[in-house]
Amino acid sequence: MEKREELYRGKAKSVYKTDDADRLILLFRNDTSAFDGKRIEQLDRKGMVNNKFNAFIMQKLEAAGIPTQFDKLLADNEVLVKKLDMIPVECVVRNYAAGSLVKRLGVEEGMKLNPYTFELFLKDDAKGDPFINESHVVAFGWGTAEQLARMKELSLKVNDVLTKLFDDAGLLLVDFKLEFGVFSDGSIVLGDEFSPDGCRLWDKDTKKKMDKDRFRQGLGDVIEAYEEVAQRLGVPL
Ligand code: ADP
Ligand code: UDP
Repeated sequence: MEKREELYRGKAKSVYKTDDADRLILLFRNDTSAFDGKRIEQLDRKGMVNNKFNAFIMQKLEAAGIPTQFDKLLADNEVLVKKLDMIPVECVVRNYAAGSLVKRLGVEEGMKLNPYTFELFLKDDAKGDPFINESHVVAFGWGTAEQLARMKELSLKVNDVLTKLFDDAGLLLVDFKLEFGVFSDGSIVLGDEFSPDGCRLWDKDTKKKMDKDRFRQGLGDVIEAYEEVAQRLGVPL
């Protein structure tokens, strides 16, 4: 597998072409951003921890029948993935109220949502990733009704699998964000990453925040918390 030119440099990862038209390399950097990229800092070990964390989770999801981009780990900070045509929509599943939901509706943080909620945001930093609904996705051509239905079905399946996985590690999966893309065979595949950067995880007993809210809220020990989650799950770092 030969690494070719950089295709895209995002806020946290760089994406490289390879000699295989159907594969890309994702390089996880230490850059940590919040508030749509308005705040960026370097956190030691973050690229490595998130790369290995993501590989572990993607393999668990794949084993549960969810199609993912994961191919193989190449290095501490690099993973080989399926090249997807990304759908510019973030799928957010919530089990407890937090973050923008609390701000938007004024409900109490930590309120159990029964049933879970499913939300969509347009992936567009310049516009502040606005909240959108299902009809917008189809009307503006970001995805078809069928693709959207599949993204929702897969998001809820991810929630089932990961709620149980984190519960067994003494953690509440509060909410998470997923991104999907279309593979060369036309199928919808889970892309991007699943790591403590894109979800909320609280200790079941103490409710200690173990995710990127530690960075957003200046709570400190950000990577130490990510490493503790990894260790509880049995992710080899
Ligand atoms: P952002 O673009 O939000 O700043 P990142 O720094 O994580 O985010 O950049 C990674 C970029 O790569 C994102 O735009 C993401 O949509 C895209 N991406 C993730 N996985 C794949 C994939 N398998 N194929 C193509 N693009 C991908
Ligand atoms: N999220 C993300 N990227 C985004 C926006 C949200 O990974 O651009 C994740 C976030 O970490 C949380 C979930 O999606 O786990 C829900 O985020 P929310 O809408 O509450 O927004 P926030 O207040 O975190 O910006």
